[in-house]
Amino acid sequence: MTLRDWQDHIAKTYLERDQARGPERTCLWLVEEVGELAGLVKSDHPDRQALMHEFSDVFAWLLSLANVLKIDLEQSVQRYRLGCPRCGHVPCHCPVR
Ligand SMILES: [Zn+2]
Repeated sequence: MTLRDWQDHIAKTYLERDQARGPERTCLWLVEEVGELAGLVKSDHPDRQALMHEFSDVFAWLLSLANVLKIDLEQSVQRYRLGCPRCGHVPCHCPVR
């Protein structure tokens, strides 16, 4: 599936509920899932299955938030199509921050 296919799939699955919840609360769910992912990443030996699970939750909530705000992620990520949006290179030549 393409990114657009995934966004459509998540919309079919959750858009009604996501719209009822609204963008602010949907964003809070996304942040909570990012926090759970961060908790795993900072652990000494992150469990691969748990990482896979949290990545999928973060991805799904990102798509939900984009749907509620009517953002086409396929279009949004185009700014990275030619490489790093800051320096324009692949790989990025910017100093590591
Ligand atoms: Zn760069």
